[in-house]
Amino acid sequence: IFPGSVDAAGRPATLGVMGGGQLGRMFVHAAQRLGYFTAVLDPDPASPAGRVSHHHIVTGYSDAEGLKQLASSCAAITTEFENVPADALQALAACRPVTPGAGAVAIAQNRIEEKAHFTASAGVAGVTCAPYAVIETSEQLQSVAADLLPGILKTARMGYDGKGQARVNNVAELAAAWNGFEQMPCVLEKLLPLKAECSVIVARGWDGAIVGFAPQYNVHVEGILAVTTAYEGNMPPALAQRARVATESIANHIGYVGVLCVEFFVIDDGSADGALVVNEMAPRPHNSGHYTMDACDVSQFDLQVHAMAGLPLPQPRQHSPAIMLNLLGDIWCDAAGQPRAPDWQTVLALPGTHLHLYGKLEARVGRKMGHLTLTGADITGVKSMARQAAKILS
Ligand code: ADP
Ligand code: MG
Repeated sequence: IFPGSVDAAGRPATLGVMGGGQLGRMFVHAAQRLGYFTAVLDPDPASPAGRVSHHHIVTGYSDAEGLKQLASSCAAITTEFENVPADALQALAACRPVTPGAGAVAIAQNRIEEKAHFTASAGVAGVTCAPYAVIETSEQLQSVAADLLPGILKTARMGYDGKGQARVNNVAELAAAWNGFEQMPCVLEKLLPLKAECSVIVARGWDGAIVGFAPQYNVHVEGILAVTTAYEGNMPPALAQRARVATESIANHIGYVGVLCVEFFVIDDGSADGALVVNEMAPRPHNSGHYTMDACDVSQFDLQVHAMAGLPLPQPRQHSPAIMLNLLGDIWCDAAGQPRAPDWQTVLALPGTHLHLYGKLEARVGRKMGHLTLTGADITGVKSMARQAAKILS
């Protein structure tokens, strides 16, 4: 699907996305820069991506009429969040290329299937999941191995940004937490002592070719990504290599097409580098890859566009060390909870700042409003700028 082309009926080449959040918005920007028209399906008339797209179909994700409109207006369709109903992707795939496929999205929607997939694929790279047990019945709950505690109970479905999770120290707390989740299917994971967290983002094309970014380090606060650090040599080379091989294997194993992010823990196993544990995957661009828009010659959203349209996948090159700070709604409130405007005047005077706001008008605590990427000639300078920016915004 070539950008700028027009079909026999006179329609311009249009790319569609399920979901209108910030990831959809950055996808739309990347697609439009190449000359594509865009269509967004999202029920919220004020969705960040809907506001900037040529077409915005305002219906639910399973709405037959909305899906028909999306399919008829687009040459190819992608998704910006993993909780779009797999059935809807399946229906779209009957008439248009949909990437990633419904099967891959279904795996990412369910932690039980995701862990089974990791065991079958990442194992070849010597990377395992955290020790875990599936909890779908009271019998399974009563018979969990004692060494999984203390652990984290996670709902199999619909968890994100630390939601649908409870830390549990013993069987009584586990039972209470499971009841709190209305006895939905869950996994209990052993609580691991994390040295660090990192993620790898790759893009895989229709022909199986894979390109990607070097691993970036991520710091989460209260389950939400807060800071991503990415620069050459940030990770021991052998560890970076293992993370990349595991990610490629995870993608290859299911013939994945599109952008894929895999999150890892680095845990202390007595070795100098530490061991990698695979945590979860996102079948789309990821918050930890936002720095690629400002620090790389090709961004994760560019790759999403290229992969879905069947264009060549360029191997990205990072030209600047980068630190990304997520901007949550919290910074639009002062200590007393009163609304305030962040001091952009001072922040944007710092060299190497790249501000991205998502067009959300209502700031709420914990809501992702935007991000700030800092780039520079060397990581020491970038770190110093990031500290100053964080201080001004705090
Ligand atoms: P989400 O879908 O909310 O991102 P994750 O499974 O990635 O859920 O968990 C969110 C965060 O909680 C992780 O980034 C990590 O900081 C912490 N966490 C999750 N699982 C474990 C674990 N088994 N041991 C230690 N920390 C964990
Ligand atoms: Mg996560």
